[in-house]
Amino acid sequence: MITRALLAIAVTLWAGLVTPVWAAVEHPQNVILIGWDGAQREHVEQCLVRKELPNLQRLIGQGKYVRIDVEGTTDTKAGWSQILTGYYPEVTGVYSNGRYQPVPKGLSIFERLENNFGADKFVTVAVIGKKQHCGEIDPPQKIRLDEEGKQKSDAATGKNKKGKQKDKAASGETKKQGQRKKAESANAQPGAGKKTRGTIVEENGVTYRVVPGSPYYGMHAAVDVWEFGLMEDQKVGTRAIELLEKYKDKPFFFFVHFAEVDHSGHKHGENSKEYNDALISNDLWTGKIMDKLRELGLADKTQIYVTADHGFNEDAKGHSFAPYVFLATNNRAVNRDGRRQDVAPTIYEAFGVNVGAFQPRLDGLSLTKPDARPPAKLGPAKKARQQAVQPAQETHRPDVIFVPTPQDAVDKMLEMARVTKDDVVYDLGCGDGRIVVTAAKRFGCRAYGFDVDPRRIKESQENVDKNGVGNLVTIQQKDIFTLDLSQASVVTLYLLPSLNVKLIPQLEKLKPGSRIVSHDFDMKGVVPDKVIDGDGHILYLWTTPLKKESQKKTE
Ligand SMILES: [Zn+2]
Repeated sequence: MITRALLAIAVTLWAGLVTPVWAAVEHPQNVILIGWDGAQREHVEQCLVRKELPNLQRLIGQGKYVRIDVEGTTDTKAGWSQILTGYYPEVTGVYSNGRYQPVPKGLSIFERLENNFGADKFVTVAVIGKKQHCGEIDPPQKIRLDEEGKQKSDAATGKNKKGKQKDKAASGETKKQGQRKKAESANAQPGAGKKTRGTIVEENGVTYRVVPGSPYYGMHAAVDVWEFGLMEDQKVGTRAIELLEKYKDKPFFFFVHFAEVDHSGHKHGENSKEYNDALISNDLWTGKIMDKLRELGLADKTQIYVTADHGFNEDAKGHSFAPYVFLATNNRAVNRDGRRQDVAPTIYEAFGVNVGAFQPRLDGLSLTKPDARPPAKLGPAKKARQQAVQPAQETHRPDVIFVPTPQDAVDKMLEMARVTKDDVVYDLGCGDGRIVVTAAKRFGCRAYGFDVDPRRIKESQENVDKNGVGNLVTIQQKDIFTLDLSQASVVTLYLLPSLNVKLIPQLEKLKPGSRIVSHDFDMKGVVPDKVIDGDGHILYLWTTPLKKESQKKTE
């Protein structure tokens, strides 16, 4: 254990002695986010005092070193999803290595920057050391259980199509890399992990295991180069340097992820020589990347952030409760300690991106801005979110980002619910009103759309008027969690798993025989009657009275 004061002295002294070859960068053209997966704050600080991390020291000398506390699960999936989006798990759906889903489209740094600057004018790259939990791009899958033993899986219908699109999108890759990636993706299939993943569903007498897609499944498609599973720091570093050379002429965002610290921690423990050596290795490759930027003349145009997804339990081989990490950067404007979700907002601000327009509002706050939040609540993600939401001014903050349901999925949802003209359809979170409009037009039934966001209400009403279904469709601005559903016979949802669960008490008040259809997200604890694939979108059907998990017969 060392004191912070001692570290501060060490950092200051050394910074003063080193001739600045690395300038603080105020308005960067490029940003590189370097991940030191599993780097425990205290161990890093000890290394700094022992002067074992000269390159991190060099970066700090030109900018800042701050402490980052982790709200939420201290593991890799939760960590990088939070860092790469700026959101809590309630928005991304990624709670932990075991509980996750693809991060909804458009929420990652990669996608936001591509959107902001134009996909052809801006380069995004991810070079990732890990094989699992960071970088893998498994699509949602539905595996026939009777064939699982044969290692044969029926992927979700959208898989092949999307896989191909991806290969095209990643034009920066060679064929060999593409193959390597595919092989690794195959390794990461269910059965490779310790736990069997997924939900068991039955359809037409056949039992399937439905496995959620990887958190990176959606975001990777927007990225120019996405490589993962490189394992060794040397491979990650070498590849990152090659790609810097290749893309030096365009503005870029690189995510370079080193896995050796986490791997050696799991194998040898946090206090081992191997863990310490891995930190030194991360530092070495971080330095090589910095040197390459200098060589390319990009040193004064590029901000670097070095941070970690989680720490390590002291003197242990795991990180079950390891919420103490750090952030080092040459962005001198960074001026306070913060949280994992503050990294993305800091990078957006550096790039001059207007985060005020983001939906939903970011959960993090730029590390250059004063922090008026209550102290970080270390521990379960849920508590952390409640804590952070409290001081918010907006009382009607939408819980879900508005992602329109594709029209073909809308059609399938209504077919699945066997809607007739005698039904009353309630769409909870009606977005632009397409579900209620379609229900009225196709089936001639009455339909009600509810949303908490006034902009969505306006759009929905316009859609209703445009389609001349005002006699059948009613749009209302309401909090769906206080809504009386007793008049509905069909309820459609496109929320998040946690929100579906929150609705269970209201859904239980539906008349017997009512149907509930959800797009992409299940409802934990309630057994669906049917689960089908709608071109990569999974649709769930429940019929009232709801069948609770415990009531399910064992097969
Ligand atoms: Zn780990």
